[in-house]
Amino acid sequence: MTNKVFETIIIGAGISGLSCGRRLQQFDKDFLIISKDIGGRIRTSDDGLVNYGAFFVCSDYKNLLNFVKLNSRIRLHDFCFHYKEKTYFLFEPKLIIFLNQFMRFFKIQFKFRKALRKFREVSETISQKKVIENDPFLKEVYMKKATDFVKENDISNLTNTYLSKGLYSTTFSSINEMNAFSFLQFLLPLITPIYKFSFEKEKMIESFKNKIIIGCVNEIIFKNNIYQIKTDNKLFYSKKIVLATPITWSKNFANIKRINTPVNTNMLHIVGKAQKKFSKGKYQLFSPFNEVQAIANLNNSTYLTYYRNEFPTLKRYFSDYKIISEHFWNPAGTINGHNLIESNRGNNMYLIGDYNVAGLEEAFITGIYAANQIIQSD
Ligand SMILES: Cc1cc2nc3c(=O)[nH]c(=O)nc-3n(C[C@H](O)[C@H](O)[C@H](O)COP(=O)(O)OP(=O)(O)OC[C@H]3O[C@@H](n4cnc5c(N)ncnc54)[C@H](O)[C@@H]3O)c2cc1C
Repeated sequence: MTNKVFETIIIGAGISGLSCGRRLQQFDKDFLIISKDIGGRIRTSDDGLVNYGAFFVCSDYKNLLNFVKLNSRIRLHDFCFHYKEKTYFLFEPKLIIFLNQFMRFFKIQFKFRKALRKFREVSETISQKKVIENDPFLKEVYMKKATDFVKENDISNLTNTYLSKGLYSTTFSSINEMNAFSFLQFLLPLITPIYKFSFEKEKMIESFKNKIIIGCVNEIIFKNNIYQIKTDNKLFYSKKIVLATPITWSKNFANIKRINTPVNTNMLHIVGKAQKKFSKGKYQLFSPFNEVQAIANLNNSTYLTYYRNEFPTLKRYFSDYKIISEHFWNPAGTINGHNLIESNRGNNMYLIGDYNVAGLEEAFITGIYAANQIIQSD
């Protein structure tokens, strides 16, 4: 098998690599997936009940929804905001002060959601970079800093009080670092239902699971129009290659100089008891000055907690705790910046994943795009 020259080798079996493989399989194409694991940043606890990576899906994740089971809905009234010693919820009388800003913000949000839906459709056949560059609204927000966008639209108080905390918990970064596209995208849960979910991995891979090999790729060499792909103990060959690995790794093989800035999070699954002020509401959201990014109460005396640093001071948040599991996501994503990267790298190399636009649905669609390019080129 190792001497065979595959038509396509996909490296990485996160959601982007899997969606690419699935589409190639639908068209009966020859391919192999080599990956360190299956699922990538969709990862669960050993019993499969808790998501340690991606946590929620939106109701408009049209492609991904075919491969997930929706669990409970995450509702806005479950969010508890923290600022210094203060604790508050969204639906409190003081919300009235922000009504005008909310109205202005929602108007733009609906426009953005419409543009994003179109972007998703078109980017199945045209690269994300080209689609964004050809859409004046999406290009403007991608190239604009979120902080400038907030000032221009006069929504600073709303942002400081609520939105920046919601964003810190979902992007693991501050709005000072992000572009206006990410700002709007990660706030879509305000107007679109979101749900906890279970990934139906078997359903996703059932038609091509014999084409997935677990292994770590260390080197890629392009010679005589053939890719040589080295893992710890084997050498594979292919005519086409799809890099479905995080961009921090792919960039080394795809000749990419500038990528958006990676963001990290240290996820800890904890059993114990939260300090009193962190026990109201299901989801605790914090300002970006805090080391803790979010705490989610899973209703069985366990909590999913996310921290900016590797060694958080847990006793600040829990009176009693034991760590069940820990994973430092590095990177969790690369959402901060204005660097759009072309998927089609030439020499039959495609780059897929969440490097331009974050999130499961977007990564899924980049896989469809690369597969469509390969199918068309044959
Ligand atoms: C903590 C966390 C929470 C998140 N929450 C959400 C959320 O609620 N909703 C949402 O939509 N998105 C969320 N995301 C983002 C989402 O998970 C990602 O955008 C998406 O999973 C990226 O998929 P991908 O296929 O591009 O990359 P990945 O899932 O990272 O897949 C990359 C694959 O490449 C493999 N690989 C890497 N290096 C090598 C190598 N050298 N050789 C072989 N294989 C290799 C990996 O093992 C992996 O299988 C979250 C991410 C994190 C980390």
